Order: sequence, then C-alpha cells, then structure tokens
Amino acid sequence: MVENETMKTGAGAAGAGSADTVADNLIILTTNLHKIYDTGEVQVHALRGIDFQVSSGEMVAVMGPSGSGKTTLLNCMSGIDEPTDGEVMIRGKALYKMRDNSRTDFRAQNMGFIFQTFNLLPVLTVVENVELPALVAGVKPGESRKRALHWVEALGLADQSGKRPAEISGGQQQRVAIARSLVNDPAIIWCDEPTGNLDSENQNQVMDVLCGLNKDRGQTFVLVTHSEEVGERADRIVRMRDGLIDQDCGVTQQDDGGVEVDCDDDDTETAASDPDGGR
Ligand code: ADP
Ligand code: MG
Repeated sequence: MVENETMKTGAGAAGAGSADTVADNLIILTTNLHKIYDTGEVQVHALRGIDFQVSSGEMVAVMGPSGSGKTTLLNCMSGIDEPTDGEVMIRGKALYKMRDNSRTDFRAQNMGFIFQTFNLLPVLTVVENVELPALVAGVKPGESRKRALHWVEALGLADQSGKRPAEISGGQQQRVAIARSLVNDPAIIWCDEPTGNLDSENQNQVMDVLCGLNKDRGQTFVLVTHSEEVGERADRIVRMRDGLIDQDCGVTQQDDGGVEVDCDDDDTETAASDPDGGR
C-alpha cells in the first residue's frame, strides 16, 4: 500500500518526538548565511549572516517586509540558490558540500516545494504534474503513478486528475501543488507564500491541509507568508528585516481558539536602537 510504503521513508523516518536533545532533533541549520546578488552595477546584500535552526516536526512561518530576504533565505536553505557564504545543514548533511548530482537527488528525496504561483507545468495533466517529482527521484513509472493517484485522491482532486492546470481553479491548482510536494514523502516542505494568490476560503483550506500534514505525519514546514493569520497557525514566527532575523516568536494555540505569541526579546533589535539591523 502506498501509504505504508511512503511512511517508512522521508517524514516517517524524520518524524518529531523521539529525539533525546534539541540538537539531535535539528533538521535545518544555517550558520552565518550570506547572499549577495551581484547584478553588475549594484550588489544587493540580501542575507547578512543568518543563523537559523528548525527542529524536526516544526512548522515555522517566516515573515517580514517585502525585500527583507525571505525568499532568498528559503531558496538558499532549499538548494535553489547557492549562498555567497555560510553553511546549510539539512538532516545533518552539508547541502553545498555535495556534488550537484548528489544535491539534486538529496533534494528530490528530502524536500517538497509549494510556491505562490503554483508552478505547475501547463501541458501536463493534474496526475502527471503530481507524479513528476517521483519520476525525477528515480521511482519507476508505475509506482510513481500509484503514489500520485494516492495524493490526488487524498487532496480531493480525483475528479480533476486528467485535467490541465488551466482547467481548474486556483485553490485546486494549489492542492495539486501540495500533492506534488508530497509524492516523495519529503521530511521538509518549503512554502513561499503558498496562499498568496488565494481567497480567504481557499487560504484556510490550504492551511488546514498543511497543518494536518505537519501534525499527523510530522513533516517539517518552513513557510514564508505575508499573512498574520497564516503565521499564527505555525508553531513559530520568525521575522526578518534587512537580511537578518529580527525576532523569533513561539506561537501557542489557546483553548478558546486564540493564540499566544511569545517573542524572544534577546533577538529583537528595534529600528531605533539598531538602524543597521545588527551589523
Ligand atoms: P522577500 O522575499 O522578503 O520579498 P527577497 O529575498 O526576494 O525578499 O529579496 C531580498 C533582496 O534581494 C531585495 O532587495 C531584492 O530586490 C534582492 N533580490 C532578490 N532576488 C534578486 C536577484 N535575482 N537579483 C538581484 N537582487 C535580488
Ligand atoms: Mg519573497
């Protein structure tokens, strides 16, 4: 059965709750991460020394003003874009010390991606889009299709399976992208503004799915968002400013449906006391 088979790998193996210490349980670790974009005329120092840790099974929201470096951080941690300096450790492996081929395989096996604009391939059907990462990871076509159909169904898309992205709604397209991100049962799912193009009803549906996966399967989520509502559904909110982490806050869901946000003030640098953001 697809479910049992996939549970043995990826998130199943990385699931939260069994580590002896916090350090053993770290799934993402960045050390002094810098990214400088050199466009020829100007250099943009988009990340200015990020030390960031995520424990296995956490859902972390990354927030902050436009241009503060959220997407750059996500891209550098996920292997999309190489940092200029610093280190990224994923599940204890140094991401940028791997050869390109090994890194591609490692990413395919350990990471799923969900983007604001869905990034589905328009010429492929729903099920073909979903199975693609499995094929890329070297899973045989029959098994890839089986897994894809499982997730297409799990996300309520069985009736849409043979349609192309342009023939379904935005909310459905994002659920296809979620199914695609799950097909290799990755330990980590990176989301960049996953609800940015959705209305509030679809936003809630997508967040219900992501929070459910996080809770039930122990998958780790790093989720960039503009929405306080989305952020407050995470376990933790990290706020960026000018290429640095400005604030790290724990979020506790209250019994009355509200949330308590508890921020680590040591990491807080107010604009008044530190206009350069700490560097
Ligand atoms: P955010 O996701 O928080 O809006 P980004 O990570 O996209 O921020 O951008 C951080 C900074 O890096 C911004 O000043 C942005 O203009 C710049 N930047 C992002 N991508 C590139 C690029 N490919 N080339 C040059 N500058 C870039
Ligand atoms: Mg961005």
